[in-house]
Amino acid sequence: MDFKKLVSHCKEYGFIFQSSEIYDGLSAAYDYGPLGSELKTNIKQYWWKSMVQMHQNIVGIDASIFMHPKTWKASGHVDAFNDPLIDNKDSKKRYRADQLIEGYAEKIEGKITKDVDKARKRFGDAFDEAEFRSTNGRILDRQAKIDNAIGTMNKQLAAEDMEGLKALIEELEIACPDSGSRNWTEVRQFNLMFSTQLGNIAGEEGKLYLRPETAQGIFVNFSNVQKSTRQKVPFGIAQIGKAFRNEIVARQFIFRMREFEQMEMQFFVRPGEEMKWYDHWKQTRLDWHKALGTPAENLRFHDHESLAHYANAATDIEFKFPFGFRELEGIHSRTDFDLSAHQELSGKKLQYFDPELNENYVPYVVETSIGCDRMFLAQVAQALQEETVPDADGKDSTRTVMKLHPAIAPVKAAVLPLLKNKEELVNAANDVFDKLKVHVNCQYDEKDAIGRRYRRQDAIGTPYSITIDFETLENNTVTIRDRDSLDQKRVAIDEVSKIVSDSTNINSLF
Ligand code: ATP
Repeated sequence: MDFKKLVSHCKEYGFIFQSSEIYDGLSAAYDYGPLGSELKTNIKQYWWKSMVQMHQNIVGIDASIFMHPKTWKASGHVDAFNDPLIDNKDSKKRYRADQLIEGYAEKIEGKITKDVDKARKRFGDAFDEAEFRSTNGRILDRQAKIDNAIGTMNKQLAAEDMEGLKALIEELEIACPDSGSRNWTEVRQFNLMFSTQLGNIAGEEGKLYLRPETAQGIFVNFSNVQKSTRQKVPFGIAQIGKAFRNEIVARQFIFRMREFEQMEMQFFVRPGEEMKWYDHWKQTRLDWHKALGTPAENLRFHDHESLAHYANAATDIEFKFPFGFRELEGIHSRTDFDLSAHQELSGKKLQYFDPELNENYVPYVVETSIGCDRMFLAQVAQALQEETVPDADGKDSTRTVMKLHPAIAPVKAAVLPLLKNKEELVNAANDVFDKLKVHVNCQYDEKDAIGRRYRRQDAIGTPYSITIDFETLENNTVTIRDRDSLDQKRVAIDEVSKIVSDSTNINSLF
């Protein structure tokens, strides 16, 4: 579905609102409405259950957002959590230099895709895409341009060569997407951490940061958690919580926000065993996405070529968002960088005594880190569809339906009396609602014709609609309508709770 429509759908039905909208909004901050907060809770529950509760050797914590400022010195965020920033002098628009260069590469990639599509049409069944890509002169030229631009950029980013980045933008003749102007400022590093001030200490001493990732809350608690839970390596610590980044360019709705929520797990392993676990978590996390019904073609790994200072391997799980494949989750082999750095700066030992090896060491870490909001966007983007279905009279009509997996759908069932002015129907429907509400999140709706009520439920992804009609009064049965197949089955009222809760429970994903 068109991305603008998706955004307005999210607002219209109470999934997501712009933050402080009555004051014209605050950019890159969003509020989750009644249905959005339910969906987000379900996503978090799915993650927590599968990562923490289903593993004997993974435990959860909930650390504070404020941490001792030295934390961010040790982690490298004070010195290196920067993005290269560039301004266009004419439009006064601000960009990330690396994103401008990536945009240049994406444009060329788009041209390559067009050429490939044309050739596929021309050659039909005999078309061999891999061969075409590796032999067609024009495509090879274009691919070389992409490789050259991205390769040069990666080297410059690694060397923090800001002058080089500016020169590259000029050499590639990249223009401001807004004004078309090529009148650029210098590129400079911009630290993404938000800071604030402690009340009782003035100056630098009292400077606090809002955490830019949840991971450090886990690292500084490594010994506390290990000792209190008596976990043995390999084991993991997981956390869900808010993180804050002063993103230079925050676009694309909840994809890139300045305040967002992360679901992270740090898995502590023996030094030397990290690659085995890295492969394990890559596969486990991919399977987690697929279990929700995300088709394999919407997911792919993107292995990092240039690695962050702390990593010896890193990959992204990318999802096919409406604006292209983008990072949804990161899986990083972080070595012993974080624990060693905290050990050094704090002077406190962050080691583990391995009884099998009879040896002390600083464990290595493999982390999985996913943005809850990006996961939300991915699921809604994938689920929201317009389709043609027969209406009550058997004629074709268009419906908007959110085909979320029932286990994460915000409302599991709607309870609908056929008519709102028949007291017996309304009373019977309320009885059904009262029984069902104990088991699942459900909605009662009596307004408008039944067909319109079905459509409203389709639009918010409710898997089941339960209709109370005159037959209900005779024999205690109701109809259950299935959101996707539109099948309607008549079942006994006593069975409703079980049918709905069995098939909408998070457990059904395992
Ligand atoms: P990007 O390259 O898109 O900025 P990143 O590589 O900086 O992301 P990580 O530091 O690996 O991201 O963070 C882990 C996860 O947190 C990401 O995969 C993403 O899902 C989420 N995330 C990061 N930044 C944001 C943001 N500004 N808004 C929403 N989610 C975010």
